[in-house]
Amino acid sequence: MNLLLMGLPGAGKGTQAERIVNDFKVVHISTGDMFREAMAEKTEIGMKAKSFMDNGELVPDEVTSAIVKERLAKEDVKKSGYMLDGFPRTIAQAESLDEISSDLNQPIDGVIYIDVPSEKLVERLSGRFICKNCGATYHKIFNQPKVEGTCDICGGHEFYQRDDDKPETVKNRLDVNIKMNTPLIDFYEKKNLLHKINGDKDIEEVYEDVKKVIKGL
Ligand code: ADP
Ligand code: AMP
Repeated sequence: MNLLLMGLPGAGKGTQAERIVNDFKVVHISTGDMFREAMAEKTEIGMKAKSFMDNGELVPDEVTSAIVKERLAKEDVKKSGYMLDGFPRTIAQAESLDEISSDLNQPIDGVIYIDVPSEKLVERLSGRFICKNCGATYHKIFNQPKVEGTCDICGGHEFYQRDDDKPETVKNRLDVNIKMNTPLIDFYEKKNLLHKINGDKDIEEVYEDVKKVIKGL
């Protein structure tokens, strides 16, 4: 099964992705995670992406589509299918993905769009914190670890806030992504692939709706 998980920053893609991967065993590919890893390792791609990410801008399409193309060609994707998270974010990327997925004979089965009113996203992003060890995502109000200061998944005790979740970057990130959003939704609606889900509910309720969509694909 091949899926796209779409939604504005903070809509809950990563949070739902953890659950989807657990139940459906697809390969989770987040372009944001790939860029953050490349930045931490100071690779050429990481260096190229840094200034864009620091300012909440999109990394250029050629760079982004190239890393997705390389990743989708790997053996695990052929075996288990993919779930792209945070890609595509522009029409040019969506068109590249059509080409890549057709070349690999791995067509998109469905697009899950997690819909959350944009005015709620600043609060979601600014309260997000992440386990340093395993990358699990929490929120200081909406999604706290069961035991304060301890990661539910790996038991780790160290957490961090993403640099681009700080107030000075959040607004620009949202503006940039909102601008691109409607044309992308239209693109997949026209292909009859779009499944819109109300993401303005409790995390587990959202996941119930996500599961229904996936089981119906
Ligand atoms: P994205 O990957 O789309 O940027 P995340 O999954 O990281 O979004 O979620 C952003 C923040 O919102 C996190 O702190 C997460 O714990 C929280 N969150 C995710 N889903 C919900 C929800 N349904 N209700 C409230 N908070 C949520
Ligand atoms: P995310 O983790 O999905 O919130 O992405 C973090 C940042 O990575 C974004 O603000 C962009 O700078 C960059 N990025 C991630 N995915 C893409 C994409 N598909 N196109 C361009 N830039 C991206």
